[in-house]
Amino acid sequence: MEPKKKLLAFDIDRTLSPPKQPITEDIAGLLIPCLDYFEVCAISGQRFEQFKIQVIGPLQNTSPSQLRHLHLLPAQGTQYYRYSASTQKWIQMYSHTLADDKVARIFKILEYAARETGYWEEDKLADGDCIIENRLSQVTFSGVGQKATAAAKSAWDPDCKKREAIVEICRELEPEFNYAIGGATSIDTTVSGMNKGSGLQNLLFELGMEKEDILFFGDMTQPGGNDYSVIQADMDTITVRSPEDTAYALRGILGLYGIL
Ligand SMILES: [Mg+2]
Repeated sequence: MEPKKKLLAFDIDRTLSPPKQPITEDIAGLLIPCLDYFEVCAISGQRFEQFKIQVIGPLQNTSPSQLRHLHLLPAQGTQYYRYSASTQKWIQMYSHTLADDKVARIFKILEYAARETGYWEEDKLADGDCIIENRLSQVTFSGVGQKATAAAKSAWDPDCKKREAIVEICRELEPEFNYAIGGATSIDTTVSGMNKGSGLQNLLFELGMEKEDILFFGDMTQPGGNDYSVIQADMDTITVRSPEDTAYALRGILGLYGIL
């Protein structure tokens, strides 16, 4: 059977990997054959440096011709990288960088809202770590910093209630920006209209594809979650809770098309 979908797109944290960890061997083993039949995209609020650790590293035994079908969208898809087989390097195709005054306003409102709610927990940070990070085309709040252990992150806000309280204040005082809850402790902030939905829409345009061509996998597809914008963009989506769920769904899809 010919695959009906041309592009498989994946959120990373809790969809392809545990938060901030490399993708699992099982997932890597499923993604590599996908590169022969589909365009494959990973999209996340993380920076490109983090994509190197979580996605590119575990796929290093993939051939250059396969990697040409892998599309990396850091910072919610406000940046786009693809692989050049001739130079064997990842090339930045575009980056919609935030203006300095907007970055400054976002830093201020996130800190203010976190302090107001009592969730500004600087005392929990590791040395040299920070709660708010400028990722150039987005600003990200991480409740217990970037370097906290996976266990510390998972324990911080498992039901998203802390982040929902912070975002409520941010939306009231700085409604110009878009606040998306993702990962275990993150609030990804961009200018309105820049989110995973629009990031994937831009990728479809780059690839000359239609909305019907994409199938997206994500764990935060509920309203307020950082995958919700993909649902709002009316793209077919499979909601997962873990990389194991994703592997299960992928096996089903690949089996259906006789790829596995
Ligand atoms: Mg996620």
